[in-house]
Amino acid sequence: MTAEPVIDQQGTPGAGALPVTVRASLSPSRAADFKTCPLLYRFRSIDRLPERPTVEQARGTLVHAVLERLFDLPATGRTPDAAGDLVAPQWDRLVTEQPELAGLFDPGDAVGTAEFLRSAAALLQGYFAVEDPRRLEPAEREALISAVVDDELLIRGYLDRLDVAPDGALRVVDYKTGGAPREAFEARALFQLKFYALVLWRTRGVVPRVLRLLYLKDAEVCDYSPDADELLRFERTVVALWQAIEQATERQDFRPRPSRLCDWCSHQALCPSFGGTPPPFPDRSAAPDPLRDARSRPATPGADD
Ligand code: SF4
Repeated sequence: MTAEPVIDQQGTPGAGALPVTVRASLSPSRAADFKTCPLLYRFRSIDRLPERPTVEQARGTLVHAVLERLFDLPATGRTPDAAGDLVAPQWDRLVTEQPELAGLFDPGDAVGTAEFLRSAAALLQGYFAVEDPRRLEPAEREALISAVVDDELLIRGYLDRLDVAPDGALRVVDYKTGGAPREAFEARALFQLKFYALVLWRTRGVVPRVLRLLYLKDAEVCDYSPDADELLRFERTVVALWQAIEQATERQDFRPRPSRLCDWCSHQALCPSFGGTPPPFPDRSAAPDPLRDARSRPATPGADD
């Protein structure tokens, strides 16, 4: 992934120019974590427990990287073959940048690696079944967007792609590569897209016309059109969520909320719902910088956006 400049309140680049009142930041993934399970939020955002990347996450990262680079090619060259040709070089680049990805396969397991690359190429076929990139010219790719709400909360995230129509209409596009049952994640995915829509509305004064989820495995498109009233309500929800997070932090009280998503949780061994014990709550004086999320890009799409 390439680092992109922060788009600030005025929609202009300016990564360092956070208003002085801003004292916390929230990404859609972290907000969705708290909504899903407060203890999961704690493990990820306060304890900052490491999570080993899974093959599925690595595949998602790779496919996102290929789709981002695909649009570097001239429009006529954005073919399935060209996308396939990007798979191996992009994997090599990712492994160089994120050495932990190399641990997913035994050294010398050429068969496992080749099968992995083939599975990524198969997802790209799903992409070409639902879109023709030769007819698209994205306005932004892998762009970090942010806005301040409630005077002090920075909401931010990386969107996969933003298309702008000649009449100025915005379409936010998010690629979904997971193989998990869609219904387990669809609410989370829509929450994430509304989050981006809110940021765009607050920074550009335009409610995106379409929020689009592209499910590459199933080669399906899910479009959603928000309106301003809905985004206003969503903004209140986000602020209330942040207040609940602050309260839980103050009380050091993050409870587990078991659900189907536990099957994808890396922290079952520490979760009371699975017989585990969470680590002691981190010393507040050593607590992580609440704006740290605003300053760094997570390695894995989907981990944050
Ligand atoms: S296992 Fe389930 S309940 Fe426990 S922390 Fe993970 S998501 Fe929450």
